[in-house]
Amino acid sequence: MKRKLETICINCPMGCPLVVEEIDGKIEVTGYTCLRGKKYGEQEFVNPMRVVTTLVLCEDGTAQPVKTSGPVPKDKIFAVTEAVRNIRSSKDTKIGDVIIKDVLGLGVDIIATRDAI
Ligand code: SF4
Repeated sequence: MKRKLETICINCPMGCPLVVEEIDGKIEVTGYTCLRGKKYGEQEFVNPMRVVTTLVLCEDGTAQPVKTSGPVPKDKIFAVTEAVRNIRSSKDTKIGDVIIKDVLGLGVDIIATRDAI
């Protein structure tokens, strides 16, 4: 069976249009300008990944922005946001602090992107 994916490389503002096809078991990427786009197209085809940004509630009821320290599989994004929703960060949390270490065993941390207010 032949699979085809049309997508846009999101690694830089050029936004190169990519076409990814699996031909005879080999993944072919066209439309990229640099090798980052080729790698992105291959990853999107096999297992799309995203950095997750969201908010965590602090103990005092305010919200603090957080993100994953690296990309996670797209199908794990909801589970990651649920894990964040179920915790409270300390009012002493500073930018860069780890809020959840190795969230869901995915090999990335949830880190604060701003000091708690
Ligand atoms: S392929 Fe390269 S030049 Fe094109 S959008 Fe991706 S990173 Fe930018």
